[in-house]
Amino acid sequence: MEERSLNFLEEIIENHLAEGKYKNIHTRFPPEPNGYLHIGHAASICLNFGLAIKYKGQCNLRFDDTNPVTEETEYVESIMNDVKWLGFNWDELHYTSDYFEELYGFAVKLIEKGFAYVDDSTAEEMAAQKGDINRTGVNSIYRSRSIDENLQLFAEMREGKYPDGAKVLRAKIDMEHPNLLMRDPIIYRIKHAHHHRTGDKWCVYPMYDFAHGQSDSIENITHSICTLEFIHHRPLYDWFIEKLEIFPSHQYEFARRNLTYTVMSKRKLLQLVNEKHVDGWDDPRMPTISGLRRRGYTPESIRNFADTIGIAKRENITDVGLLEFCVRDHLNKIADRRMAVLDPVKLIITNYPEGQTEDLIAENNPENENGGTRSVPFSREIWIEREDFMEDAPKKFFRLGPGLTVRLKYAYIVTCNDFKKDEHGNITEIYCSYIPESKSGSDTSGLKVKGTIHWVSVPHAKTAEVRLYDRLFKVENPASEEGDFKDYINPDSLTILPKAYIEPALTETNPLDKFQFLRLGYFTTDKNSTSGHLIFNKTVGLKDSWAK
Ligand code: ATP
Ligand code: MG
Ligand code: MG
Repeated sequence: MEERSLNFLEEIIENHLAEGKYKNIHTRFPPEPNGYLHIGHAASICLNFGLAIKYKGQCNLRFDDTNPVTEETEYVESIMNDVKWLGFNWDELHYTSDYFEELYGFAVKLIEKGFAYVDDSTAEEMAAQKGDINRTGVNSIYRSRSIDENLQLFAEMREGKYPDGAKVLRAKIDMEHPNLLMRDPIIYRIKHAHHHRTGDKWCVYPMYDFAHGQSDSIENITHSICTLEFIHHRPLYDWFIEKLEIFPSHQYEFARRNLTYTVMSKRKLLQLVNEKHVDGWDDPRMPTISGLRRRGYTPESIRNFADTIGIAKRENITDVGLLEFCVRDHLNKIADRRMAVLDPVKLIITNYPEGQTEDLIAENNPENENGGTRSVPFSREIWIEREDFMEDAPKKFFRLGPGLTVRLKYAYIVTCNDFKKDEHGNITEIYCSYIPESKSGSDTSGLKVKGTIHWVSVPHAKTAEVRLYDRLFKVENPASEEGDFKDYINPDSLTILPKAYIEPALTETNPLDKFQFLRLGYFTTDKNSTSGHLIFNKTVGLKDSWAK
């Protein structure tokens, strides 16, 4: 692969290492456990863990679990599972909630230094005090409380003396600051809520801005990488660290990753799940890591995607075709080839002896010399794909029709002599004759045929449910359309074929196995597939629609 040029973070890190600013770099991936990870998070995971690997540093996994209301253990487990599945191992595992005592101590320290105060204003009053970009803020009447009074009130807040919203702790910065986030932001609020890890121990919780940078600092994070919308938070991030005189972590921003024909906010994905537009967080149509896994994506393909898109400083939206290109490229190398017929019609080889069967030897994967072979049974009656036959075939139709000749993959050359229709005009049977000397691997017929089609022997065929997926949304960027994003859901995003015919070798399969169904695309075995009820999910078609 071509060596790509350094991205802006790699440049910064290489400079830091060269200058000796840091001996080792330390990054972290800090998800909030309020949903399942999606492909945007995968980009961030690959970036943070990838930098640590590249520069022989460390990367932590930290659950940013400061909001007791939206967080759940189920999400924590799914996130750990997804990070590992992508192929990464964290150096340290942390929870921001483990720092609650330390963070509380930092808040006390700020009060003691005169940099924080308890405010009794209502949310509306504080919003009015804040002003806006055209109007400077005004001080709260509580801003001049004494340090002692603040210390006492803050302790009482912690003890549970006050109801939700009665008081907050605010940083004392500058109500005339041009950056609105610097106008005495709230750093602690009262919330009498049960936390998924700390239970009922706390009824005051730190705000994101107060927890994040300080957690980075506690862990000696050198490069704290986040998405662009936090750029205006950076002065605040630096202010807390400076006033607290703690390890100087630094924040760097890159553009959030978006993908066409889907949505990427956890809040929206949660709506799709709760309102049953999809079959759970791991529905194969979801842009979640677990959905992509169930769809048949490999960790390699997702890592390759993340590396190919790289990082940007400006918001952009990536064509989902690139993601599909990456998985197709990998599956082509690793997926065993099998035959399945999704829309079957019967073909009878009239000159093939009745009752005879043959075991044909078929290569598992022409892209892998160690891929081995399998045996595929052949007989007089086979299923072929309905669309591989045309009654009035045009000139360039290199498949079957009256008088046309094709090769049956791994088997013989056949010519169509006749066919039968039912009273609705549907083809019910196709009659062919075969050329015994044309067997694949020992063909002495001297015939050249343009087309090869796949098939499954009728008496040997097994059945399976096959699920075909299309885009979940009808428009490129549903989140930017007018009205509710759910108005743009594609009603035809799932097609279930309850009874496809498959070759016998496909019955020996476990969930997440990957196959190329010849001429149809890549498929994976669903998590609910059993030997009594096989289910395959289509990952992606064979045709490359991605314009390079
Ligand atoms: P969402 O809006 O989907 O809830 P979030 O940023 O609130 O996303 P977090 O759990 O806080 O979700 O994200 C963990 C990390 O992943 C953060 O560092 C965040 O910057 C990064 N991240 C989240 N979404 C994307 C994205 N679309 N592209 C790149 N990085 C992302
Ligand atoms: Mg977040
Ligand atoms: Mg969020």
